[in-house]
Amino acid sequence: MAGTPGLYLIFMELGKDKEIKVGKLGCFAFPSGHYSYTGSAMGGLEARLARHRRGAKRLFWHIDYLLQWARIVDIRTFPFPERLEEQSTPLTPRLECRLNQIVLGHPKAQVLVPGFGSSDCHCPSHLAYYLEGIGFSFSDRIYGKVLSFRF
Ligand SMILES: [Zn+2]
Repeated sequence: MAGTPGLYLIFMELGKDKEIKVGKLGCFAFPSGHYSYTGSAMGGLEARLARHRRGAKRLFWHIDYLLQWARIVDIRTFPFPERLEEQSTPLTPRLECRLNQIVLGHPKAQVLVPGFGSSDCHCPSHLAYYLEGIGFSFSDRIYGKVLSFRF
């Protein structure tokens, strides 16, 4: 099980407004509040998520830069069914983006940083910022919405 490939959602909270440099994307003003990031881990969810939880690391993905400041409040994973694992490589980007589209379809979800985590796909962003009023249990709300997701 150590290397189960799959998709994940990271739910984060930023305590105060912060200007953050996101690698080559540039500098962006991140308002305090709730965020989520949609990602995939072909090499295994466990290793990737352990890396995301680690504070000190080489900054590589866009999310690494945000996680220097934002606090992870929840993580939900979507392990690939076994039938998918053998042939998942060409499918993975589409699955990740399909999940992401559902997330971005939430009425409170906003694209704050175009291109964040989506350099290799056509999504506007893999980072969602949630407008005020989503509430502290926002990960439950979003997760409830993506429960309809099927591989
Ligand atoms: Zn995408």
